[in-house]
Amino acid sequence: HEKYSGKNPKSYEAYIEATKSLPGGETRSSIFIHPFPLFIERGQGTDIIDLDGHTYKDFVSDFTSGIYGKSNPVLKKAIIEALDNGLQLGAHTKAESLLSSEICSRFPSIDLIRFTNSGTEANILAISIGLHYTQREKVVVFKGGYHGSVLSHFGEEQHQGGGDLKVPYEFIVCPYNDIAGTSSKIQDHSKDIGVIIVEPMLGAGGCTPGEPEFLKDLRELSKKIGAVLIFDEVQTARLSTGGSQKLLNINPDITTLGKFYGGGFAFGAFGGKKEIMSLFDARQPNSISHGGTFNNSPLTMISGLTAITQILTEDNLNKLNELGDELRNILNGIFVKEELPFKITGLGSINQIHYIPIMSLENKREGLDLFFFYLLEKGFWIAQRGLISLNFEMTKNDIIEFQDAVVHSARAVKKVIS
Ligand code: PMP
Repeated sequence: HEKYSGKNPKSYEAYIEATKSLPGGETRSSIFIHPFPLFIERGQGTDIIDLDGHTYKDFVSDFTSGIYGKSNPVLKKAIIEALDNGLQLGAHTKAESLLSSEICSRFPSIDLIRFTNSGTEANILAISIGLHYTQREKVVVFKGGYHGSVLSHFGEEQHQGGGDLKVPYEFIVCPYNDIAGTSSKIQDHSKDIGVIIVEPMLGAGGCTPGEPEFLKDLRELSKKIGAVLIFDEVQTARLSTGGSQKLLNINPDITTLGKFYGGGFAFGAFGGKKEIMSLFDARQPNSISHGGTFNNSPLTMISGLTAITQILTEDNLNKLNELGDELRNILNGIFVKEELPFKITGLGSINQIHYIPIMSLENKREGLDLFFFYLLEKGFWIAQRGLISLNFEMTKNDIIEFQDAVVHSARAVKKVIS
């Protein structure tokens, strides 16, 4: 920490200034860094440059939303053109129906879709409409699941803090990847459960892939008890053009999206079965109102549409996911061979590095923190909690350099602790 503080005086100063008007000096808990965060001045391509002039290769890629890198020319052009036609129009535009029809055609389970401003908002609306549709009260979530700012289920295992806000949902927290445990936990409540919401891979909860059998069983279970099944694909939508569900061949009732589908702008979406989503149809007498000033912001709609049609192609996504699979497999091979106390889990281009000796939570975090600071010294930026997410601007060479830096940092940690 001393070395880090010594190297980053301007970030430290900016942080202290920020604490005067923001609780803890920041406004997004998930990106906070202990002992204080770096302040980033700008980004270009794969790089970010901080206030003290250090350049880092960015392997966080804004927790998966930065899939396009910092300066994608295709998006930049589309955004500049859109800017010329007005910032906010407060009216329907063709771009929103083009974006919606593009998403509906990619996800067979999505007949109709609505846009929001964040993944959190998309999940709140999806859960609420699911409860309204079933006229039930309870919501099944999974331990380690994260569905947004007020919808996290880490409890005390959270990397930062440990407090979950109270929200007006009656959650039943079930064990992930454990259908027997889930069934037994809900058996006395099955008639009250309106919604089961699940990430096909626990993202913020440590990049734990959902076992295909578990997810298929959940599909059956929700049908059996008459609950709406929501797949939160805010992160996993990048695993194929039709998200995780396409790879698994499972059709949830509602899917939620976010992050990169807005082409770099604030975005969220929830969509699914016609009979559920039609409840929002303003032509119906008792339709449900769903507002949101920026839901169809022209900049977001146009950037999202450009991104989907020109960048998030099957070929591009496959290549990126292959790079991620290769990185994970190579590093895990080296960790095992050299008995380094680390492991990487994940799918495709979304991965998480874990420090292995799980003696106590504190030790687990210390090992990972040490690794994080070593990697930073070598010019690579990952999330302090270990998330590694690839983006389209990374070259094969960037990834090889990163791989080397990870191995050297892991060796250095082993040396210090042994
Ligand atoms: N669901 C999942 C699976 C997420 O990873 C996130 C964001 N990390 C969200 C929902 C919330 O999205 P947002 O941050 O846009 O509110």
